Amino acid sequence: MPATSSSRNFPAISGIRWCSCWSPSFVAIWPAPAAARSNIPTTFLNKRLTPEQCWAAADECGAPMVSIPGGEPLIHNEIDQIVAGLVERKKYIYLCTNALLLKKKLDLFTPSKYLTFSVHMDGGKEDHDEAVCRDGVYETALEGIKEAVKRGFRVTTNTTLFDGANPERVRKFFDEMMKLNVEGMMLSPGYSYQKAPDQEHFLHREKTQKLFREILKDRKKSWRFNLSPLFLEFLQGHIDYECTPWGNPTYNIFGWQKPCYLLQEGYVSTFKELIEDTAWENYGHKSGNAKCADCMVHCGYEASSVDDTFSSLAGFARTVRATLAPTR
Ligand code: SF4
Repeated sequence: MPATSSSRNFPAISGIRWCSCWSPSFVAIWPAPAAARSNIPTTFLNKRLTPEQCWAAADECGAPMVSIPGGEPLIHNEIDQIVAGLVERKKYIYLCTNALLLKKKLDLFTPSKYLTFSVHMDGGKEDHDEAVCRDGVYETALEGIKEAVKRGFRVTTNTTLFDGANPERVRKFFDEMMKLNVEGMMLSPGYSYQKAPDQEHFLHREKTQKLFREILKDRKKSWRFNLSPLFLEFLQGHIDYECTPWGNPTYNIFGWQKPCYLLQEGYVSTFKELIEDTAWENYGHKSGNAKCADCMVHCGYEASSVDDTFSSLAGFARTVRATLAPTR
């Protein structure tokens, strides 16, 4: 097993894929049954971070990449200003969207190497429409993707896979996304963290590994993933990592969330407090914390795989091998 990230130094500014992740609003524009945010009290659902708060969080954290999840960031009235301020700061932005409003809102933005629309897709038409309980959203998302690609924006997809996902359908979905010329696809297993409402459909570790092995076997050369190749090996159970819970620090209207994007165990007002005062040893698979037992989610484990790549020659060699000749 490779060395894992044991240092609690500030990984957010040292690795090229580590990012800060914050939600300018909690509001989604469809009733997503698997959305963990549904346990947010309704009094907070309409609160928004201001552009100034967003930029201050980015400056304070110093991470080179910022992921903007939701709810749905495109309904934030000042999302264009937020993005412009981050581009000015030379932050690589992943603006996560369900793309329902993407076509309409594209005029607000200018194509830039710093801005990527990360479109949430639950799979092909059948799976996507079912997951969001609304017919036609898949086609709408596709239109948004096509228009964004046509106008020269960077576009990726992000897909969370839950128990019951059909490997063959997922593989077809990859083909469909590649035909749209998206830059790459991000994947993550759904995870049964306690606050999510739909526990029965989240994946447990062995099932996660089996599912990803089936999906990624005889991987087509045409598939491009926007993920560390070592993280893909990890998802299939070919390599083991410990979690790096501080790898994607999360900021929202309550402050910096402890300890990670998934678990909500309190908030602190500064990034320094988050890093210095969180009992990190209580989190991650090996900690024995039941809440972390089955987690293989990218916000904790992709940071570990990136750390592996850049922390030693052996890790770098593993990455080259996983890129050129992934385990089959
Ligand atoms: S294993 Fe890491 S990312 Fe997953 S819930 Fe625990 S602390 Fe969060």
